[in-house]
Amino acid sequence: MSSQHNQTERGVLFVVSGPSGVGKSTLVRRVMEKFPDLSFSVSATTRAPRKGEQDGVHYHYLDVEQFQKGLAEGLFLEHAEVYGRYYGTLLKPTEEALAEGRSLILDIDLVGSRQIRTSFPEAVHIFILPPDRTTLERRLRKRATDSEDVIQRRLEEMDSQLSGCGEYDYVFVNDALDTAVATLKGIIRAEKARVSRCPNLVAQWSHGIEGEEHVTSAP
Ligand code: ADP
Ligand code: 5GP
Repeated sequence: MSSQHNQTERGVLFVVSGPSGVGKSTLVRRVMEKFPDLSFSVSATTRAPRKGEQDGVHYHYLDVEQFQKGLAEGLFLEHAEVYGRYYGTLLKPTEEALAEGRSLILDIDLVGSRQIRTSFPEAVHIFILPPDRTTLERRLRKRATDSEDVIQRRLEEMDSQLSGCGEYDYVFVNDALDTAVATLKGIIRAEKARVSRCPNLVAQWSHGIEGEEHVTSAP
């Protein structure tokens, strides 16, 4: 755990995208350990849970009918059909977290990122690239959670996910894991330190409210 001071009044919304198998979940897991006020946004999906995944922790698992009902009721901040399944970010928990000053990290696709850019212009969008295509395929297979059909579909859609990487605010390669973790942590730290996100801190110190006497130099 870090002792980092939480200086932003409103939480920051971080969007992480990249092709399947590039390492998004791995990176997100690693950085969350370092930022106590950063939570993972648990999406809803119609895909089946993988071995080891838990309802309410990795995803909220819904059937297609439940998902469409949620859509009709306006429960989603964004949604997309990705690799033949529906995925969506729930609006209410997102708004609540940000209002309470908790930052959120969303692992969502390019289509979802575009929707967030419209509805939450202050969000930070980060795209993760693989070192090369062979490595990406190897990682997808190494994860050993998906059937060959699923892996093939994800590989076929790799280019359409990659095609939008220029729309993001940040882009980097997940080659050596520790370096990639450090890069993602650096982006999060820098974005949380933006003056525009810390109005109270700025007001406190720029007007001397801390109670420190100002030492004025002789004219
Ligand atoms: P994604 O969430 O983007 O689909 P995962 O985080 O599930 O990808 O990673 C896919 C596989 O690649 C996992 O087995 C993971 O341990 C591995 N992996 C992730 N990052 C790296 C890395 N930098 N070097 C080697 N293997 C990695
Ligand atoms: P996976 O099935 O591997 O967990 O996720 C497949 C893809 O769906 C990934 O690109 C992931 O980023 C994306 N995804 C997961 N949750 C959401 C979501 O809530 N909205 C959108 N648009 N994409 C999502």
